[in-house]
Amino acid sequence: MNRVVVRYHEIALKKANRTTFVAQLTRNIVRALEGTGVRQTHRAPGRIILHLPSIDVWPAVRERLQRVFGIANFLLCERVHPSIPALANRMADIAANHDFTDFAVRTKRCDKTFPIKSPEVSAQIGAAVQERTNRPVNLSNPHFEIHVEILPREMLYSIDKVAGAGGLPGSTGGKVLALLSGGIDSPVAAFRMMYRGCRVELLHFHGGPYQSRASLDKAIELARTLNAWQPDTSLHSIPFGAVQKQIVARVPRRPRVVLYRRMMMRIATKLAREIGAAAIVTGDSLGQVASQTLPNLAVVEEASSLPMLRPLIAMDKEEIVSQARRINTYETSILPDEDCCQLFVPKHPSTRMNLGAANAAERDLDIEALVEEAYAGIEVIDPAMPSKVDSHETA
Ligand code: ATP
Ligand code: MG
Repeated sequence: MNRVVVRYHEIALKKANRTTFVAQLTRNIVRALEGTGVRQTHRAPGRIILHLPSIDVWPAVRERLQRVFGIANFLLCERVHPSIPALANRMADIAANHDFTDFAVRTKRCDKTFPIKSPEVSAQIGAAVQERTNRPVNLSNPHFEIHVEILPREMLYSIDKVAGAGGLPGSTGGKVLALLSGGIDSPVAAFRMMYRGCRVELLHFHGGPYQSRASLDKAIELARTLNAWQPDTSLHSIPFGAVQKQIVARVPRRPRVVLYRRMMMRIATKLAREIGAAAIVTGDSLGQVASQTLPNLAVVEEASSLPMLRPLIAMDKEEIVSQARRINTYETSILPDEDCCQLFVPKHPSTRMNLGAANAAERDLDIEALVEEAYAGIEVIDPAMPSKVDSHETA
């Protein structure tokens, strides 16, 4: 067992782009496997083949490959002499050592010059296994699966197929900036964009310098979890306390939430332009809270000149929660915190803002100065670093 065959969905990749996608996927795989000793890779149609230095590294390789986007599935394989009768014999021996109720043989002939067609290879191996084990074939939902890969210059078999993460290879979809609160939704939104091949940078607003920065600890922990799906993720943090202070002082209660969001968008847009991100991502889900009605989302969106992406817009809370559990962010998200925006939130925020009302409410704010002041407090955090930020209170 010294080969891993990584399979991607070729149909998902447009013809002209395929080479770029596969090259990026290969780079991402090599990157993800750094330190495992896997160095050699080569390609076959629809596949990337990895050479393991020894079977000992398989558990680590398996775990890491499961987090590389763009992989449909992968197989731990052994290379065999390209003779179908010999392979049939070998598979019968192996099957006899396994306990199963029914089985299937799946053959993929990537090398079209190989003289025996895939169904015939499967049939020959299947017959040998059936004869030895007395177990029936079940092609729809087998308990035991044998995979045969006929590649140019080599033949491989596998009884160990692992589901991949799916999606598109990281960095093929451009860069976006995701607004990460400490809540359940925004880490899932960031994850969805990574899944679609975007390079995602993160931005968190904390209450500093006037309120607590405690929410930042949670954002760092969430960024660390997301970092497992996208190595070298960076988290930007920006103090939002001065903005809030001025809004509280100069704006009536009801429009405040929407104005906080508009200010976040302006500051985020400045950062996005700085780092070359082409869109801003949020965890908004329609109607979930007062600030997420269609009229309010429109007014928030108007504050930015960049496209706003909201991957969760039509998802139910339960769907978002189950996704959050799958990507391991849920447990962190539900820890109590003091998100800067939960402070000073009125009991009955406006659900039907319009641009005229927002502009009127913003009349007494020095928007440009507030954006500049907040931006000047930016910090870039590497979530992979173990050190924690002090959650000092300066209020
Ligand atoms: P979440 O679970 O993501 O916090 P939510 O349903 O609580 O979502 P809101 O608090 O209204 O929704 O926030 C909507 C979106 O605005 C969030 O999904 C996030 O993208 C962004 N956001 C809110 N607060 C912050 C913050 N402190 N820092 C960065 N982004 C934020
Ligand atoms: Mg929130």
